[in-house]
Formats: sequence, C-alpha cells, structure tokens
Amino acid sequence: TRDSIKAFLRRNTFVLFTVAAVAVGIVLGFALRPHNLSVREIKYFSFPGELLMRMLQMLVLPLIVSSLVTGISSLDSKASGKMGMRAIVYYMLTTLIAVFIGIVMVIIIRPGKGNRDSPVSSSGSIESVQAADAFLDLIRNMFPPNLVEACFKQYKTFYKKTVFTKNITVMVNASASINATESSSVGNFKETVPVAGSSNGVNALGLVVFSMCFGLVIGNMKQQGQALREFFDCLNDAIMRLVAIIIWYAPIGILFLIAGKIVEMKDLAQVGGQLGMYTMCVIIGLLIHGLFVLPLLFFLVTRRNPYTFIGGLLQALITALGTSSSSATLPITFRCLEENNHVDKRVTRFVLPVGATINMDGTALYEAVAAIFIAQVNGMDLNFGQILTISITATAASIGAAGIPQAGLVTMVIVLTSVGLPTEDITLIIAVDWFLDRLRTTTNVLGDSLGAGIVEHLSRQELQNQDVEIGNSVIEE
Ligand code: ASP
Repeated sequence: TRDSIKAFLRRNTFVLFTVAAVAVGIVLGFALRPHNLSVREIKYFSFPGELLMRMLQMLVLPLIVSSLVTGISSLDSKASGKMGMRAIVYYMLTTLIAVFIGIVMVIIIRPGKGNRDSPVSSSGSIESVQAADAFLDLIRNMFPPNLVEACFKQYKTFYKKTVFTKNITVMVNASASINATESSSVGNFKETVPVAGSSNGVNALGLVVFSMCFGLVIGNMKQQGQALREFFDCLNDAIMRLVAIIIWYAPIGILFLIAGKIVEMKDLAQVGGQLGMYTMCVIIGLLIHGLFVLPLLFFLVTRRNPYTFIGGLLQALITALGTSSSSATLPITFRCLEENNHVDKRVTRFVLPVGATINMDGTALYEAVAAIFIAQVNGMDLNFGQILTISITATAASIGAAGIPQAGLVTMVIVLTSVGLPTEDITLIIAVDWFLDRLRTTTNVLGDSLGAGIVEHLSRQELQNQDVEIGNSVIEE
C-alpha cells in the first residue's frame, strides 16, 4: 500500500499542491488582514498572482487559434457540423436550465423584499441601451474587420456611459469591459484601486469565428492544406508544452491571487441584509446547477460517474476560482481534460475555445438573479412576460460576456434595460461581485468541461469513422 500511496501522490502532485495553495492563500490572507496593508503594499503582495494571470492570458490567443484550426480541419465537414450542433444544443440547454434555476431561487428567497438597504445617490444616469443595439454589437464583434487588431483589442461597442455614485465610479461600456474604480483615502493622499476590468484585450469571439471558418476551409483543401494543418497542429503542441511548464508555477500564483484578494476585500460583516440574501441566492443556484444538474445530465448521457470526471478537472476549477476568467483558465482546462480525463483532442480543440467564449451557465444564472433582485429592491412586480424577457436577455448577455473578470457585470446593462430597470442600480451589487464572479466563472468552466465529455460521447461514431479513414489512408500510402 505504501507504493500505491506513493503512486497516488505522484499522479496527483499538482492537484495536491493547488489545493494546498488555496488553503495557504486563505490562511495567509486572513492573517494579514488585521495589518491594514496599504493599497500599494497589497499590490506588491499580489504580484506573483498577477504574473500567473499574465502568463495564462499570454497563451490564450495562440491556443484558441491553433486548437480551433487543427480541431476543425482534422474532421471532415460533416463530422464537425454534427459535433458543432451537439455542442450548441448542449450550451443553449444548460444555459437556459441555469437561468431557470436562478429565477426560481430568487423568486422563492426574495432577497430584495422590504425597503432598500442603501439608497444609491447617482449623479448621472445611463441612457437606455437598446437590446437591439447590444445584439447587433454581438454579431458585429463576430466579424472583426482587422484580425491583428482583434488580437489585442477588446470589443468595440457603440454605447458608453458613466455612472457616478458616492465614491464608486463605474464606467459601463456594455458588452465590453467594465472599469470600476474605487477611491479610498489613505493617509492624506488618494489612491485609486481598480476593482474590476482587467481585460486581456482579445476579441475572443471574433477570433473564434475566424478560426472556425479558417479550419473548415483548410479541411476542405485536402492535400493542398496539409502544410497549414501541420503548422497549426505543431503550434498547438508547442503551446500545450508551455502550459505544462506554467502549471508548475500555478499553485504559487493561485496562492497569492487568493491571499491578495482576501487582504483587499471590504469587511464582510457589512454585507448583511438584502445583499447577503442576494449573495446566498446566487451561491445556492450555482451549487444546484454545478453539483447536481450538470452532473446528472452528464450521467444520463454518458453513463459515467460525473464526479470522477469532475475530480480530473479540479485544477482547472481552482484556477477559475483564482483568476475569475474562463479564458485565462482555458490552457489549464485543456490540460485537465486531455491529460486527466482522456477526452479526445479533436473534441477538446473544437469545443473548448468556443465554450469558454460563449457558454457561461454561471453568468446567465447570476444575471437573471441580479436583475430580478434589483426589481425587488425597487418594489417592482415583474409579470410573466418580463420574467421571460429577463431569461432571454440573460442568456444573450452571458453569450456576449467575454471570459474575463466581471464581464458579466457589464452585460447586465442589457438585461436591466430590457425590462426598464434602472441601470445605475448595478452599483448595489458591486460590493460582492468579485466574489460571485469567481464562483460563476468556476461554474462556467465546469459547464464547458462536462460539455466536452458529453459531446465526445455523442460523437464517438463520427470519431471512429474518422479513425478508420485515417487508418485507410495510411495503409494506402
Ligand atoms: N468572469 C466570468 C468568466 O470569465 C465572466 C463573468 O463575468 O461572468 O467566465
């Protein structure tokens, strides 16, 4: 048994390190809190975490492009069409279920009943954003006019408004990134802390669409496309080797990301009343969706134990928790699925980049809960039609949200305006958003990963045919 323990430790070294990192991070964070570190000290302290974030983001662009191009060009167009359809059906179905759970929770718990806790004194207001404009923006961003620019620029949007509240400035740049800065007076000078909005500056949606089309075309070029196929295949392998190196650093980065956030956060004791109930509501909804509904679906389709599968994903889930970004987590998600769960590379390369960009169950659930919470706080009774509108726009908003920290907070604007709720009330939920963001990102990554397992299972026939075809062509040669 000693050997088996040793073998277990060797196989799970990284996972154990990562779990330990979370524990140490939490302890360290709480131990440092009483020292009231200044904003600058917190920044220095969090630096190792910031580095991890940057390393992961660095890989995202080449990873998305190379995996999608190789994934799709290595399948014939019929197989990739079928696989794509399955993925889309899974994404839509699970997102709608998530929204439904969120709505049921928020209606049962009613976190926003009673008078509002904290009146928001806003000195500016957001002009109503038309849902149609937001929708057109989403489509527009699928086709970046300049590919190079899409590699380093976030979405362009056509509306931009600023809300000022007491001491929080929120710049709502719908469907792109939010820049909320919180001013705090330290000593006699003012420091501005960015509380959200670190974007990795990639128009992922545009790149996903381009890479898919490009892969499809290369696949159809048969022999002629061979050189490009090999190029992207090799690029993809090389990137995954970089991931294997970065993964050594991941536990350290995660430790400091978590500790830094705990040191920095506001006193949680203040988060009582309505906001506390709202937070509970989102957490319970996410837990039901992530721990019961998605695993059940996985089991019904594949007849495999979902929790063993989730065990293999632990490292990706913790990275999501640490980074609040499904796109930054993408490299680790790839590794977990391919190395630990042995999901076929043709499937992961195809569905993961798409999933990380558009499939966000956690975000959809959170947006629906938040919108209805804001309605409750404002004493507004929503009728069935309005709740239906919220479910549809929350789904659209989750598709439109980029896989970056707190993107969901921004696309909330679309949901709120669709039923005439005051958009400046987003500020009501900002205090807890960093925390809920981590949890919904973890749910998002979980949904993408279980989806890859489900799509693989449903597509085994096509994959086998493809294997036979490749085998034949090898024999013919
Ligand atoms: N941070 C989330 C993600 O990356 C998006 C969101 O803000 O809901 O998946």
